[in-house]
Amino acid sequence: MVSRVIPVDPFDLVIFGGTGDLARRKILPGLFRRFCAGQMEEDSRIIGAARSDMDSEEYRHFVREAITEFDPKTKGECAHLDEFLTRLHYVTIDALGETGWAELAELTRSDKVRAFYFSVAPRLFGPLAERLHLHGMADGESRIVVEKPFGRDLESARALNKVLAEHFEENQIYRIDHYLGKETVQNLMAIRFGNMLFEPLWNSQYVDHIQITVAESVGVGGRGGYYDRAGAMRDMMQNHMMQLLCLIAMEPPAKFNPDAVRDEKLKVIRALDPVREEDIVRGQYEGTEDLLGYRREAENPESTTESFVALKAHVSNWRWANTPFYLRTGKRLRERASEIAIVFKDAPHSIFDEDAGRHRNILTIKLQPNEGIELGVTIKEPGPGGMRLIDVPLDMSFAEALGPEEADFPDAYERLIMDVIRGNQTLFMRGDEVEEAWAWTDPIIAQWEDDAVPPIRYATGSSGPDDALMLMHRDGRRWREIKA
Ligand code: NAD
Repeated sequence: MVSRVIPVDPFDLVIFGGTGDLARRKILPGLFRRFCAGQMEEDSRIIGAARSDMDSEEYRHFVREAITEFDPKTKGECAHLDEFLTRLHYVTIDALGETGWAELAELTRSDKVRAFYFSVAPRLFGPLAERLHLHGMADGESRIVVEKPFGRDLESARALNKVLAEHFEENQIYRIDHYLGKETVQNLMAIRFGNMLFEPLWNSQYVDHIQITVAESVGVGGRGGYYDRAGAMRDMMQNHMMQLLCLIAMEPPAKFNPDAVRDEKLKVIRALDPVREEDIVRGQYEGTEDLLGYRREAENPESTTESFVALKAHVSNWRWANTPFYLRTGKRLRERASEIAIVFKDAPHSIFDEDAGRHRNILTIKLQPNEGIELGVTIKEPGPGGMRLIDVPLDMSFAEALGPEEADFPDAYERLIMDVIRGNQTLFMRGDEVEEAWAWTDPIIAQWEDDAVPPIRYATGSSGPDDALMLMHRDGRRWREIKA
C-alpha cells in the first residue's frame, strides 16, 4: 500500500514558546517528520519566538539537539536534517512587552498561509492575540493555535474566548486537543459512519455500557506545580475524555465537515445529566519505598487535588437512555493504557447449556500505547469437549492489516499542525464546545473545592481506589483490566 502525502500550501509557522518543553518534545520533531515526508514546500518556514535571547543560528542548533533527543527514528531515516534547519528562524520576543514584535511583523509579511502557535503559559494567550492584532498580523489569512488548558472554569474560558474573538474570527482559532489527532480516534468515526455493521447496534438497545479509561503509570513528576492547581478533572476529564465520549455518543453528522461534526459533539455535551455525588470517585496516589506520593511530589503536604477520577455519566437522549458511560483516568496506575470499550448486551436467549458461560461482544478501541481496534466475539472452544464457548479477539491491528509503513502513523501533533495549514478545523474544539464542557464539570469541581475533603488514597501501581471498583460493582458490572 502506498502512503499518500497530501501537499499543503507554503506557510510560515510561528511557534510562540519555540524553546519550551512542548516545542522540543512534540512540535519541532513533528514538523521535521512532515518535512521528511515531503509536506513542506520549499518556501515554508518555521519561526521560533520566545523569551530567550538567541539568534537563528543558535536556534537551529537548539532544534537539532531537540530532534536528535526526541525523534531518533527520523534522524536515521531522513538524511535532510541540515536542509530542514535552513527553514528555521528565531525572534526574541516578549509577549507582554514590545521586544521583537516589529521584527516578527517584518519577517512574516508575505502572502503565504500564516499560523501562530501559542505554546506558552495560558496567561499569555490573550496578550499574544492582542499584540498580533496591534502589529498587523491578525488579518484574515492568519490562524492561531491555542494549547491547553483552555481556561480553568467556565468563566475563565468565556473570558479567553472573548479576548480571542476581539481579534480573530472563530474560523481562525484552532483549540488543540491532541487526543483528537490520534489515528484511532479518527478511525472511530470511520468505523461508525463508514460501515453498516456497527451503527444499527450503536444504541441503548444493544449496548450495555461504555467504559473509557485513560491510565498513566507515571506520577505528576516535574509538572506538580501546574497539576496541583488543576487535578485530573480539569487536566483530563473536561477535555480529552469528554471529547472521546462525544465521538462515541454523537449522532451521524450530515457531512464530515468541521461545523457538522462539532454541532453533533456539542449536542452530546448538552445532553449530559449532572453527575450525582455518589457516581463520582476521586483519588490521590500514595508513595512507595522508591517513589514519592502525590503530596510530596506536588510539594503540597495538604493538597486535596485528585490524581484520579472515575465517574458514571448519562447522555440523556433517545439513543443512550439508560446506557451509562463509565469514565476513569489517573496517574500512577498499574500500566499506561488507554482504551474505549463498547460492551454489548447479552444475547437475549442462550441456546447453550449453563456451563457454556456468559459471553458478550466487546468492541475495544485502543489509544495507547499501541493504537488498534479489537472486536471480542464468542466462538466454540476447539476440541471434542462438547459445546463450550470462549471469547476471542478479532484483532484489527493496523500494523498487520496495513503493513508497517502505513501503520507508522504521524504523531497527533504532526497531523493537527498540517490540518491548521490546510484550514481544516474538524479535529479542533469550537469555543462553544469548550464552554459547555466547563459548564458540565464546573459544579463538580466547585463542590470539591467547597468541601475541601481529601481524595481517597490509592496505592501506586493499583487500579485506583476500591471505591472506583464499587462504582461499577453496584451496577453489576466491572471495569476492564488496565493492561497495555
Ligand atoms: P515551558 O515552560 O517549557 O515553555 C514556555 C515557553 O514560553 C518558553 O519558550 C519561554 O521562552 C516562553 N515564554 C515565557 N514567557 C514569555 C514571554 N513573556 N514572552 C514570550 N515567550 C515567553 O512550557 P511548555 O511545557 O512547553 O508548555 C507550553 C504550553 O503548552 C502551555 O500552555 C502548556 O499548558 C501546554 N502543554 C504542554 C504540554 C507539555 O507536555 N509540555 C502538554 C500539553 C500542553
